Formats: sequence, structure tokens, C-alpha cells
Amino acid sequence: MKAVVKEAREADHMIYTEVEEPKVTGDLVKIKIAYSSICGTDLHSFRGTYKGTKLPLILGHEFSGIVTEIGPDVKKIKINDRVTSETTFKTCGVCRSCKEKDYNLCKNRQGVGTNVNGSMAEYLVIREESVHVLPDNVSLLSASLTEPLACGVHASIEKGHVKSGDVVLVLGVGAIGQMVAQVCKSQGAFVIVAGMDTDIERFKIALKSGIDVTVNQVKENLEEIVMNKTEGEGVDIAFECSGAVPALNTALNLTRRKGTVVQMGIFAEEKVPVRCDYILQKEINYVGSRSQKPTSWDIALDLMKKGIVCPEKIVTSIVPLSEWRQAFTSLIKGEGCKGVICCNEDIKDR
Ligand SMILES: [Zn+2]
Ligand SMILES: [Zn+2]
Repeated sequence: MKAVVKEAREADHMIYTEVEEPKVTGDLVKIKIAYSSICGTDLHSFRGTYKGTKLPLILGHEFSGIVTEIGPDVKKIKINDRVTSETTFKTCGVCRSCKEKDYNLCKNRQGVGTNVNGSMAEYLVIREESVHVLPDNVSLLSASLTEPLACGVHASIEKGHVKSGDVVLVLGVGAIGQMVAQVCKSQGAFVIVAGMDTDIERFKIALKSGIDVTVNQVKENLEEIVMNKTEGEGVDIAFECSGAVPALNTALNLTRRKGTVVQMGIFAEEKVPVRCDYILQKEINYVGSRSQKPTSWDIALDLMKKGIVCPEKIVTSIVPLSEWRQAFTSLIKGEGCKGVICCNEDIKDR
């Protein structure tokens, strides 16, 4: 089969090549991939700045497709099911995090596209427990974005506890910021997203997805806009989705007393200068949100089934598998919002 393989740690070293098709054993399910969407992590791997990748490796962990084969121990998933899947290939199964199904926190977790072969290929195998059958009304294209949507669910609902009537600030309008904003909106919050001059196209996508206000911080005064909306108090919840330290300090500054700041962006440095005085003086609840877990997937799929969120709206380009490089290059240049690879043209509309 054809696949996109990262061969060596340094920048690029990625090729579109022929590899052996994966085999099913035990509880493994074989999925013919319809769409594999490109994540920031994949771009890091391309640049050589992602340390976790075990090589050589097929990249990709956000995907959808059709089941073509099942292992002898598979119980519920059937051939021809339309599916998406969590990114967990294997966990230790015995640690506290595993017992509580916080698979995102298991230290021995192996993920597709980072530790084992991923979805930028014609086929992938994954354990049955990770696979979710799609509701009939959810397209394979939307389904390929369930993972980033589930990250948004985990941050907004499970960690941020967003509720109807909350005023929310999202810093960063990349794919993750957009997903957080859509989920907060679906829960009845008033949502302000903030970005920079380079985010004009992403602001348009946010507004089309029903987000209330977009703010270009280079040209507009975010503090004034937030304080006017909240009678000088600050927002109930702020999400740092940009990975920029100044954005975190803005979030801490513009969050109300006893409000919540959720950290999703990954900083380049381990130690960063943070305004801890805001956390202390305003009794801010500063929490981390790391990827997603099984419960986040159930909520994400339910939101899509009900049509309350539409992750498909953030897709700005779709290319065939052989054209992966074009999609990577334009995303690295900062063009568009979400790039998706179509891995098997013949099933994309199923
Ligand atoms: Zn991802
Ligand atoms: Zn574990």
C-alpha cells in the first residue's frame, strides 16, 4: 500500500512510498482510510522539532474510514462499518490513569502516528476499544476531525466546565482554538476569539461557525472589548491555545476573580515567565488540558450527530495522499486552517 513515511528525525526526511499492508491479529481492526487530517504534531514531525516520534513511522492520527477486516477477538465492530478512532494503540492497562480511563495520561501509552504507524496511508490497524462507529448523518470528512474536536471537548467541558451564559475568551485561532470555540458556543457561552494579523482567514471561519466576536490584537484593544462585555470583571473562562507565553499572561489578566484559565498550547521552553500574581490575587483556577480521552470522544460524536458543531467548517484544503507535501508546505507557511489528506478516493463519500 502507499503511505507517507517519516524516515529520520531531522527536518523533512519524509517520503510517499510503498509499504507492507498492516495485518490484523487479536483485537485489531483494519480500517481503509478515507481522510487523514493534518495536525500541528505532524508539522512538528516534518520540521524535526517533535521529539516523541519513533522512526521510521507513518504519520497521522486524525482519521476516518471503513472497516475492511477484523481480528478473531473483535466483538462489536463489523466489516463495512463507517468509523473513526481514538489515537490510543496500546496502554499499560494497570496504572491509575488507565484504571480511570484517563488514557491521555498513561505514561506507557502508545499512540498511532507518534509511536506506531498512523493514518497517512491506505490502511491502518487499531485496537477495537479505540474504534467508534459513526452516526449515519456524520460525513467521513467531518469524522476525520473528531480527534481535534474531542480535544476541544476535553478542554471546554471536562476541564473548563463551560456552561450556558459564560463569557469565554479563546486565544489562538488555529484548528484547536476553533474547536474549543465551537464547543463552548454549543454549550451556550458567548465566545470571543483573539488572534493576530496573520489570522484574517481564520477569523472568517470562526464567524461562519457562529462565534460571536473575533479580535485582531494587532489592530484592536482586546482588554477594552473584554471589559466592556463583562462590566469590568473579565471573562469566566479563558483558553490558551496558541503556545505563546504573552497569550497566557493576557488570559490571566483578562479572566475574572475565581475564573478559570485552561492551558492547551505547548510552549517551546520548559520554563516561562508567568504572572503568578494574577493566579493568586484573583484566585484563578489554572488547569492543564492534554489531548482527549474516551469520554471526550463520546461527547464529540454526540455533538456532531446532533449537528450542533461542524468541524468540517475549518477544512481549507483537501489533497490526495500523493500530494501530501503540497498540503504540509502550505500549512507550514501559515496558509489556511486545516488541511486534510484523502487516502482512498473511492470511499470518500460513503
Ligand atoms: Zn491532532
Ligand atoms: Zn497506564
